[in-house]
Amino acid sequence: MKYELLKTEGRAKRGRFHTVHGVIETPVFMNVGTVAAIKGAVSTDDLRQIKTQVELSNTYHLHVRTGDKLIKELGGLHKFMAWDKPILTDSGGFQVFSLAGIRKIKEEGVTFNSHIDGRKIFMGPEESMQIQSNLGSTIAMAFDECPPALAERKYVEDSVARTTRWLHRCKAEMARLNSLDDTINKEQLLFGINQGAIYNDIRIEHAKTISELDLPGYAVGGLAVGESHEQMYDVLDHVVPYLPQNKPTYLMGVGTPANILEAVERGVDFFDCVYPSRNGRHGHVYTNHGKLNLFNQKFEKDMRPIEEGCGCPACRTYSRAYIRHLLKAKEMLGMRLCVLHNLYFYNTMMEEIRDALDAGMFATYKKNKLASMEAGED
Ligand SMILES: [Zn+2]
Repeated sequence: MKYELLKTEGRAKRGRFHTVHGVIETPVFMNVGTVAAIKGAVSTDDLRQIKTQVELSNTYHLHVRTGDKLIKELGGLHKFMAWDKPILTDSGGFQVFSLAGIRKIKEEGVTFNSHIDGRKIFMGPEESMQIQSNLGSTIAMAFDECPPALAERKYVEDSVARTTRWLHRCKAEMARLNSLDDTINKEQLLFGINQGAIYNDIRIEHAKTISELDLPGYAVGGLAVGESHEQMYDVLDHVVPYLPQNKPTYLMGVGTPANILEAVERGVDFFDCVYPSRNGRHGHVYTNHGKLNLFNQKFEKDMRPIEEGCGCPACRTYSRAYIRHLLKAKEMLGMRLCVLHNLYFYNTMMEEIRDALDAGMFATYKKNKLASMEAGED
């Protein structure tokens, strides 16, 4: 289990991460399947066609509906969803703090109400690790609190200190779980999460502290939650240099193609975001000449694919006019084709980024890609 740093260009990293479920070439975009499926009727067979390397599932959602114990009984998440490549599960923390009706945050953990049936649930570091161990994901994320980006300094300091104490408990619990006989994935990896809102000094201190735990990877969390893009880039400029360069660096929940290019330049090599699937479900599709809204009247007679030369299942066969018709008629296929195209676009962009880094041409690639996307269609 190791991360090979193959090449750097400035701070940008081209890596290869070896896991029990296969190799992850980085920079990588992980495709978000909240409840063990990407919204938009995308199957695991589809994922193989659209160059998905890592599927991401949400611990909180799987815990409250269907349940991790049942999934363990059925052989774990990989077997359950018929996907044999890497899966990353989040800790549930983000959803607990954003979706669920929070009742109390204590040192032990958080009591909250399920957004499905309102029942009272307790989750702390140990519970989060147990749920993720039951799911048997490749990479488990530490249980943390994600304070609002614009939270007051004192609140952020206290929260980050607790997140550090929780990280020690996550590490100990994961080691215990990985040593049990009936654990599905005994090689499960734990990534720590850096927090600190937009206070660079708090984030830097926290990054130094958690780096000492020698975990297999580290994430920057608590961004893309209300701060500006410039603030996000500023945090990355300051904090990434304090995270281990010879481990994966994961920017959680980010972002647009431009955000990803900027973050790669700053040393990030793992990403995830709901934008491509969410936008696809609304008929918004990404191209190398900017984003298109397929509901627009001007595509009514447009028999071109979403993007000329795109190898995705939508563009290989169907026209903008047909997909627009499907979307207008509320046919599920319209939504599905847009989601497939968007994920393919993101996964292909990551492939281009890796190729550019291999060739020592990332800076040029980034400049051209951004200019082309900003210029729009003729
Ligand atoms: Zn396409």
